[in-house]
Amino acid sequence: MAYDEELELPPARRRIFCNRTLNLRSIRAVGFDMDYTLIHYRVEAWEDHAYRHVKDRLAARGWPVDGLAFDHESVRLGLILDLEHGNIVKANRFGYVKRAVHGTRPLPYEEQRTLYARDRVDLSSPRWVFLNTLFSLSEACMYGQMVDRLDDGSLPGPMGYADLYGHIRASLDEAHVEGQLKAEILADPARFVVLDEELPLALRDLREAGKKLLLITNSEWPYTRDLMAYAFDRFLPEGTTWRALFDMVIVSARKPSFFELRDPCFEVIDEEGRLLPVLRPELGGIYLGSHAAAVETSLGLSGGEILYVGDHIFSDVRVSRSLLRWRTALVLRDLEPELDAIAGFEADQRELSSLMDEKERLEHQFSRLRLGKQRLERGYGPRPDSSVAALEARMRALRDQLVALDARIGPLAARAGELSNERWGLLLRTGNDKSHLARQIERYADIYTSRVSNFLALTPFVYLRSPRGSLPHDPGP
Ligand code: IMP
Ligand code: MG
Repeated sequence: MAYDEELELPPARRRIFCNRTLNLRSIRAVGFDMDYTLIHYRVEAWEDHAYRHVKDRLAARGWPVDGLAFDHESVRLGLILDLEHGNIVKANRFGYVKRAVHGTRPLPYEEQRTLYARDRVDLSSPRWVFLNTLFSLSEACMYGQMVDRLDDGSLPGPMGYADLYGHIRASLDEAHVEGQLKAEILADPARFVVLDEELPLALRDLREAGKKLLLITNSEWPYTRDLMAYAFDRFLPEGTTWRALFDMVIVSARKPSFFELRDPCFEVIDEEGRLLPVLRPELGGIYLGSHAAAVETSLGLSGGEILYVGDHIFSDVRVSRSLLRWRTALVLRDLEPELDAIAGFEADQRELSSLMDEKERLEHQFSRLRLGKQRLERGYGPRPDSSVAALEARMRALRDQLVALDARIGPLAARAGELSNERWGLLLRTGNDKSHLARQIERYADIYTSRVSNFLALTPFVYLRSPRGSLPHDPGP
């Protein structure tokens, strides 16, 4: 690669977005999660694979799973399972449910409104399961499909929607933990892994700028070893490996416990993964287990000097930030198609916004006429200088205009609601509002970006400033 003294910022889809101002120069250590952070998978392939493992496990219990297939369009990151009703929902930032499917059947608007008139999503309750990571998509898809089967009486009972989820969760958990699924991934990584040529250089830049780099993954040692070698070594100078990029490697980290508890630490002393108990992880080693406070001690750093980069909203971002005040970066690969979809709709969005402005203006005129009529009829206050009949005629004309306007707004608004995914729309919006996912990101991720290699263009010296947040009373454009 030739060095390009490019002064322009990268395109929006490759930027790093900022919720809370972060001066990368003041960060002394950067910790990275591996799966779906440093290593991105083809979600359709990986989740389809995990789904098949779950399906086999359910079939072995005699559950009717024939004919079922993973449908990756049916579920998305940031949706929420409602274990009380067997639904999958999308909520806005306040937790109000804005879209819902029961099993695999979309709920008509009225039905959804009635069902959720009083309930709000509350992630502290076990009733609601937030889809925190792309690894959640296989179980969410299977859950929806199995709710259909539970409803039609073809599952062994008695079983409720929450029990059903428990069985599916346990099956996926087993599939991840037991070696076969991972062995199949390692046997054909090209099918599952999306390579990123820019990534090793982005990490090297950070390291040469004086930051300690840590790999902290829940994956086991052999999987981490082989996958990192597959994804990194080909892009590194002859004779070097991915390990040269990291000052400390922690596998089987058991996040979120890693940030909460004080699990024991073992050093991985050979390639096969033989272990030796040690007090805490040290620079230069590979470790299993341990915990975040021990890492801070070893590095001699406090939370505000460590940036942790991960994809799991709860385990990587929320817990590390809330408990230890580590700075946090969320990797959200779907941001790229999200921004593409928004860009593709820009002209339509401008038209939609101007039609909505026009609607607001006409509605105001209509309300003024209605109030004038009320005062004329009741004989109080300042009144219009015309007859009730004349006011009514103008109201009729306005109503016709509003109907015509709605006929233009309707299809545009419907298309806006289907951007990026026909059923669920944009990840980070519900209508004009922020989605529940957007709210989680805003609260817990200091910065967010589509991939780690986006640090390359922005350099290790970037000062990321949060934009001036918009408020409803801000003057319009
Ligand atoms: P990380 O994202 O690098 O911390 O690693 C994620 C690891 O967690 C991968 O090895 C996944 O296979 C594993 N994993 C993801 N979901 C589950 C689960 O539901 N149960 C157990 N392991 C999981
Ligand atoms: Mg991860």
